[in-house]
Amino acid sequence: MSKSLTVDMGECVGCDACVELCPRVFRRSPLGYIEVKEEKPQEDDCIWEVINCCPSGCIRWEED
Ligand code: SF4
Repeated sequence: MSKSLTVDMGECVGCDACVELCPRVFRRSPLGYIEVKEEKPQEDDCIWEVINCCPSGCIRWEED
């Protein structure tokens, strides 16, 4: 079973913590939205740090 990393844009408050803490995985798109650069990144410490720090709790792993 694999997991995808998702950002719920309806809940994101645009603080940029994810982009600052884990730029390998998250970026701000030209239109201003937070994007996951790789839908199925390797799990690593920076992703878990971002999930724990995101003020709106909108970054989640979803099982396929
Ligand atoms: S840390 Fe969470 S609330 Fe902040 S920009 Fe990233 S996804 Fe949005």
